[in-house]
Amino acid sequence: MTARTIFKRIIDREIPAQIVHEDDLCLAFVDVSPQAPTHVLLIPKKEIASLDQVADEDAALMGHLIVTIRKLAAQLKLEDGYRVVANCGPHAGQSVDHLHFHILGGRPLAWPPG
Ligand code: 5GP
Repeated sequence: MTARTIFKRIIDREIPAQIVHEDDLCLAFVDVSPQAPTHVLLIPKKEIASLDQVADEDAALMGHLIVTIRKLAAQLKLEDGYRVVANCGPHAGQSVDHLHFHILGGRPLAWPPG
C-alpha cells in the first residue's frame, strides 16, 4: 500500500489549507509557497499519482477538472490571464505524487519555463 500524500491529508482535513473550492470530485486550495499573486492547486479527490496514471475511465473526471479551472479563474478574478501547469515526473519537478494542476496568475508570466 502506498503512503498517503500530503494532498490526501488535506482532502481528509488532517492538514489545514486555504480552500477556495470543493465539490464531490475535487478540491482547490492556495499553494503554501505561492509563485505568483494567485497560486492555487486543483486536485481530484481520487488518488491519481500523476498525469501518467490517468486511466481511460478518468476521462469525465479530467473534463470536470478542466471546467472547474475555468470557473476558478473567474472566481479568482484572473481576467488578465493565467497559466495552468501539471508537473509530471522527476524532470518536471513533481514533488507530490497526487495529480495537481497549478493555476497561476495575477502578474505577467515569463515563457518558456526553466
Ligand atoms: P509540484 O512541485 O509537485 O508540481 O507541486 C507541489 C506543490 O505543492 C508546490 O507548489 C508546493 O508549494 C505545494 N505544497 C506542498 N506541500 C503543501 C502543503 O502542505 N499545503 C499546500 N497548500 N501546498 C503544498
